[in-house]
Amino acid sequence: MGRIAYVNGAYVRHADAAVHIEDRGYQLADAIYEVWSMSDGKLCDPEGHFARLERSLGELSIDMPMSRAALTTVLRETVRRNHIREGLVYLQVSRGVAPRDHAFPAQPVPPAVVVTVKRVDPGAAEARAAAGVGVLTTPENRWGRCDIKTVGLLPNVLAKQAARAAGAGEAWFVDDEGNVTEGASSNAWIVTADGVLVTRDTSANILRGVTRATLLEVARSENIRIEERAFSLEEALSAREAFFTGAGALVMPVVAIDGRSIGTGRPGPVATRLRSLYIEGARAAAI
Ligand code: PLP
Repeated sequence: MGRIAYVNGAYVRHADAAVHIEDRGYQLADAIYEVWSMSDGKLCDPEGHFARLERSLGELSIDMPMSRAALTTVLRETVRRNHIREGLVYLQVSRGVAPRDHAFPAQPVPPAVVVTVKRVDPGAAEARAAAGVGVLTTPENRWGRCDIKTVGLLPNVLAKQAARAAGAGEAWFVDDEGNVTEGASSNAWIVTADGVLVTRDTSANILRGVTRATLLEVARSENIRIEERAFSLEEALSAREAFFTGAGALVMPVVAIDGRSIGTGRPGPVATRLRSLYIEGARAAAI
């Protein structure tokens, strides 16, 4: 973790950073978050993450804590003070601090804001992508508003832990119809036997991944055939390739699902090429 965090208006030592015990994020998961991947000290996919931040806040009737411009300054200043060039920037906005009650505070309180920065070793990330990771599937058991990026992540936490315990790098949720919804912290993709790139449509109950949206543009510019639709676990198991996307993973090839090899059992050419094109483009457009 970085050494400095931003907490409600102040840059403080990470070791001393704290929120109030009555912060509604802490007590009720009444909070949302965003994560930017960072390249050379700059924020990747800035527009997409700011737009989703505003949408998540709007869906929960929490005010933007400050303007986009002011928030950009805070994010950048937190990065600068941590001397981290490659990594992740985490922003959390809760409804604020108020005596515990499920309903919103009768007297509005200011939203509470936390920013932290985490270093990522790009060499280790590349090595992981070059080897590919396994996925463990788990029954979809989340609420009906997965489009809101809330900190209420317990099903995702348990799914990820089960994956880790099984030696897998990510968990994929599978709904009652046998379709893959998304990962515990990523969007899921396959390349079918006839070369079509498939990812779940965002009318489904999934997070509208920013990396997903950017990668779709990249794939379109490469003239890859794309279908945004549900795909079943069965279809994924017989796919030529599989991978997942997210600000943390970027584009991560999947080599096995529930211990069964996907395609050749090695990272596929489409995932590998899309990963390098995504990283190149995100770097060039970072602010
Ligand atoms: N789906 C879930 C459940 C996530 O938690 C995340 C990222 O944290 C994603 C998808 C990918 O979203 P993004 O590409 O915006 O990071």
